[in-house]
Amino acid sequence: MSGSTPRVAGGARLSLLLGVVAAVGCAPLRGGWDVGALEARVPALESVGAARLGDLPPHFLPQQGNLTLFLCRWSTLAAIPVSLPADATATELELLRGALIAWADAGLGVSFEQREYVKHGIEITFAVEGRGRSVPKGAGDTIADCALGGGGEAERLDVGLRHASILLRRSNTDLLGRRVPLTRDELMGAALHEIGHALGFSGHVAPGASIMSATTESVRRAGKRVNDGEPFRDATLMALYAVPNGSVVGSVPLAPGAMARFDRLSTLTGNQRLDGPLTRVGDRSARIFWQSERGVPFSLRVQGWPSVIGRSRQIIFEANPPAELLMQRGDPREDSQ
Ligand SMILES: [Zn+2]
Repeated sequence: MSGSTPRVAGGARLSLLLGVVAAVGCAPLRGGWDVGALEARVPALESVGAARLGDLPPHFLPQQGNLTLFLCRWSTLAAIPVSLPADATATELELLRGALIAWADAGLGVSFEQREYVKHGIEITFAVEGRGRSVPKGAGDTIADCALGGGGEAERLDVGLRHASILLRRSNTDLLGRRVPLTRDELMGAALHEIGHALGFSGHVAPGASIMSATTESVRRAGKRVNDGEPFRDATLMALYAVPNGSVVGSVPLAPGAMARFDRLSTLTGNQRLDGPLTRVGDRSARIFWQSERGVPFSLRVQGWPSVIGRSRQIIFEANPPAELLMQRGDPREDSQ
């Protein structure tokens, strides 16, 4: 299975690797939570089926000594603002708009509204390739951030995806290190796949025909079908959008030290009125973070997500440098109290 594991850089960036070998079969679910319990509770899942929803790494929120696991997607009540690359050619724009239309027509209930600039929405850009530039290893990278509203019920938190950023490549590198432009079908497949991440499927399905497979060839074939005008459907994303946003899918005990670390950072960021908490998950790591007005993140990251979900002691919160510094210095108001 390791051959189909995608690279996840920067904590929770998701990549579609080019050239990986398809892994077919009845693979165990990868998300680390019980999709059967969710199916029993959500009648809407009966009609669409859960497909590979259980491969989805859940978002998390530390609460009273436990880690609450939940699913996060966009609200379907309003169109999702999307910005397209300013440097896209007419052909690229046509393909990207085609990928958005395919998802809008895929039965999820989502719609898109193109804007020149989006603060909260989906931002699609092309990587600038060249010496010293950071480009995705595969055909694309996506991050998607979930905002936690602070309210909710036992079975459902008040959350929603707020921003996603997609970085696409225009070319692949062959075995001799030469750049080979992506074909129309490869670019369409990559766009469909990365938009799937941006819509909230922040992992990869193990086997089969989903666009969220990490296997290049099945993604390219899906791209070809859409380019050929065939209808596009994805049962796994249908399942995600059939489930109420913020559905709690599990709870695992958290080590006291980890809980204390979260509580401290949460208090300090709250005192500074930082934006958050937000969560970002991938199939190698996950994080919860706050950010300053200038976009500086203060984050706690869990390595090995979601496989550590069943091993509570291995759920360790690693602070990034700004968060570590804030926790070391504390709040100046603490001294005067
Ligand atoms: Zn991917």
